[in-house]
Amino acid sequence: MTRIEEQIRAEIVEAGRRLYARAYIASNDGNITARLDDRRLVATPKSVSKGFMTPDMMVIVDYDGHKLAGERDASTELPMHLEIYRNRPDVNAVVHAHPPIATGFAVAGIPLTRAVLAEVITTLGSIPIVEYGTPSTSELPDAVRKYIRAHDGLLLANHGAVTCGSDVMAAYYKMETIEHFARISLVARLLGREHLISREEVERLQGLRGMYGSPAPAPLCADPAEAGGDPVACQVLEAPASPDGRLVPDRSFVQTSGGGEIRLTYGELSALIADAVNTLKES
Ligand SMILES: [Zn+2]
Repeated sequence: MTRIEEQIRAEIVEAGRRLYARAYIASNDGNITARLDDRRLVATPKSVSKGFMTPDMMVIVDYDGHKLAGERDASTELPMHLEIYRNRPDVNAVVHAHPPIATGFAVAGIPLTRAVLAEVITTLGSIPIVEYGTPSTSELPDAVRKYIRAHDGLLLANHGAVTCGSDVMAAYYKMETIEHFARISLVARLLGREHLISREEVERLQGLRGMYGSPAPAPLCADPAEAGGDPVACQVLEAPASPDGRLVPDRSFVQTSGGGEIRLTYGELSALIADAVNTLKES
């Protein structure tokens, strides 16, 4: 085994340990792959907790998903990974997990596409939700294909998240960033509003990406044509033109059972509660 292969196996073990330690995965969930060379990939085995792997457990597969070496079998989500490598020659590793807060956004159908954190803008840009696809079928790779050319991190509807990067730890750190971003977004939305970073500042941050070592193609693309002409392939960051930004009241957590949104001012809500209390008193 070459030193490079040893190093990749060790990095995958470490990334799996961190995913499990941070509760981004439960049980035997999640999977990690990395390019070994232009013919082979190293992949995590299925039916194993990714928190307790050893380097010898890894599976070597080709880019069509055929097993070349290893005692175990690769994850059934391997086709999603292969689709990402096919569409992103710059990417050397892919991480898939179910981080609970980001996955909560994916379940609620709320993408992480608002320009609110400078570091997220420079590392990931917007994080759209890929349409639901049954795990382990071709539906998921098909859905991921549409977005992956323009984004390094995706939420998977009713499932989890997937990230890619120049090496295993780079892809892993993007998963950490997504979950951290989701946690902060959740708090801001529970507090009732988000102060968006202006479009001008977003463009300035985009210009700094090279300095931060983030050469990915177009996670901040402004024009869908940049993402290969597919109109749904690129979800632009939501950022206001005004240099002062703006406050976005967020009531997306308040919905009727039919899914329609309710918008209430504090006064309207108080009046409704007072009304309900009075009704109860009278009955
Ligand atoms: Zn999964």
